Amino acid sequence: ATPTAIMVGTGLGAKRGVLFKNASAIETGARIEVVVMDKTGTLTKGEPEVTDLAAAGIGEPELLALVAAVERESEHPLAEAVVRYAERRDAPVFQARDFHNVPGHGAIATVDGRRVVAGNRRLMEREGISLGGLMSRRDELASGGRTVVVAAVDGRAAGLIGIADAPRDTSAAAVAALHDLGIEVVMLTGDNEQTARRIAGGLGIDTVIADVLPGDKAGKIVELQRDGRKVAMVGDGVNDAPALAQADLGIAIGAGTDVAIETADVVLMRSDPLDVPTALRIGRGTLRKMR
Ligand code: ADP
Ligand code: MG
Repeated sequence: ATPTAIMVGTGLGAKRGVLFKNASAIETGARIEVVVMDKTGTLTKGEPEVTDLAAAGIGEPELLALVAAVERESEHPLAEAVVRYAERRDAPVFQARDFHNVPGHGAIATVDGRRVVAGNRRLMEREGISLGGLMSRRDELASGGRTVVVAAVDGRAAGLIGIADAPRDTSAAAVAALHDLGIEVVMLTGDNEQTARRIAGGLGIDTVIADVLPGDKAGKIVELQRDGRKVAMVGDGVNDAPALAQADLGIAIGAGTDVAIETADVVLMRSDPLDVPTALRIGRGTLRKMR
């Protein structure tokens, strides 16, 4: 595009808090055919809240205390939600020992002499723990759009914590606007398939890539780029950075982590998903002007 068209595009973006880091970011925007969106913190507010608690073979306060002790050592947003909830319910406070984090799965520690595992179903499989009677309740919560933290104590499934993270107010409108531009929208998440599908369905997203381990997000972008399709990735997390770099256009949520913002080609200062179609429309307008 001409320097003038680029200047106009940059100015239009700036007015709406859409920061293009370079001229080619504007031009690439015009060619995007697929937009991949991270779920947590991008399509959703990234403010998880505990909504459900179910204990099996153990009291609720005790279960909550054990899991909170593990999650107090974790840095995951889900962990923070659990800790806040335990504090609100005045659960006893224990100190965890031998803590270890299992990325994309959950965390494990020893609490009050017991081995506590807290995480997703995949972590339970890894640890050889069967959900038993908790299985159907887990599925019910997940199908309802809850992210479910399963807790096991000394090798036995002992409870479930259902966590909700509401979609951003404009996520559905953003998806609709992208569809109007003829763009395919894909949800990419480390969360499980059932939860992801429920949330995606509510937003009008038809393609869901779920259960993706932190190290595998960039590889999923490569797969979508086959046949030369131009792919944009929108994300906020540390986990998203490699995918933002791999995409033809990396778009970071302004409220996201520094790594995501540094890696992206475009930053949405208002953290509004509706600014994704806006950015791509500015790209299209800029190219049109040069012809
Ligand atoms: P995302 O942020 O997209 O959910 P992650 O890779 O960070 O992706 O996490 C994937 C899944 O692993 C989470 O949805 C959750 O089920 C589980 N998980 C990760 N960390 C924890 C934790 N500290 N406690 C419980 N579950 C966790
Ligand atoms: Mg995220």
